[in-house]
Amino acid sequence: MNVFPAWFRTIVSYYVYYKLYYNLVSIATLGSHCALQVLKGAKDEGFNTVLLCEKKRERLYRRFKFIDDIILVDSFLEVSEDRCESILQENNSILIPHGTLISQMSSDQIESIKTPIFGNKHILRWESDRVLKEQLMKESKLDVPMSLSSPQEINKLVIAKRHGAAGGKGYFIASSEQEYNKKRDLLIKQGVISGDSDLYLQEYTSGVLVYLQFFYSPLNKEIELFGVDKRHESDIEGLARIPAENQLNTDKVYSFNVIANSPLVLRESLLNDVYTMGENFVEASANLIPPGMNGPFCIEGVYDADAHFKAFEFSARIVAGTNIFMNGSPYTTLMYDQPMSMGRRIAREIKQADKESKIKNIVT
Ligand code: AMP
Repeated sequence: MNVFPAWFRTIVSYYVYYKLYYNLVSIATLGSHCALQVLKGAKDEGFNTVLLCEKKRERLYRRFKFIDDIILVDSFLEVSEDRCESILQENNSILIPHGTLISQMSSDQIESIKTPIFGNKHILRWESDRVLKEQLMKESKLDVPMSLSSPQEINKLVIAKRHGAAGGKGYFIASSEQEYNKKRDLLIKQGVISGDSDLYLQEYTSGVLVYLQFFYSPLNKEIELFGVDKRHESDIEGLARIPAENQLNTDKVYSFNVIANSPLVLRESLLNDVYTMGENFVEASANLIPPGMNGPFCIEGVYDADAHFKAFEFSARIVAGTNIFMNGSPYTTLMYDQPMSMGRRIAREIKQADKESKIKNIVT
């Protein structure tokens, strides 16, 4: 005979099921970039959340109740050390990579992390290395602005860009080798770069700058356009407020440091090509870097006067521009009947994979 009444046993079994199902996996990320969005989305989907947090930012992140566990570190590099790895393992964590991981760790360091990383950690190397990046973009049939192999080739407006996810800091424009040398030397003096090898030269393209945010689900084999944004970059954005004669009287190097993002909506007639770009990117990634471009990514470029898109960059992971759409974007509204952020979409993919016993298909 059962000692406990049926209603009590039902509640207990539901509780055990809930614990087993929802606590199986926790979602972890580094405390920066889009951590709030990622962990809020994870909590909304019922996951435990873990934050690797630099001690100096503890007070900020403790304000948010959807963060269950905080692992305090002096530097994010500790993510690959035994202490952090074992806490993440105990929590059965999946780590969501973002721009801070890429800007603070080398590709080798990222690939050495033992905690499962959402998406494809090997493609992050292709994001950080300008040569590999160009190869993947061309393979994806994207129209990429011409690159220059040396400053001596400068005969039109070019942009000098740093490698990795520098967020536009230390980038500059030049229209001659002489101008390039002057600006490069100034940046060396300021300690921003160490020399030519830190810079990649690309034809400057002008028009409307657009950042296309996608999610590719390896489980459903479907691409989703998640949102479109533009970036506000300092100093370059402030330049238009300075009269030309004053601009000429300064030897400041105007950089492209991202400060904020705001939403954009594209003309509907452009959307078909946008989906095609995303699909071609996914296809080329699967061929070049198995298991391919799984999860969030962004294609970044410029629409010219003929509405032709030139792509100067991609990010092979969630971009900070998705933070605008924590409550969903115009495009997610077309696909989901509830507010859907990129962070929540990631969590939902993990939940589906967990349910279908396919976690291995969505992490590396
Ligand atoms: P990236 O690191 O390639 O995303 O570049 C940072 C910023 O530099 C972009 O957001 C653009 O404002 C600018 N930029 C990069 N490449 C180009 C280009 N080829 N033409 C014009 N602007 C560019």
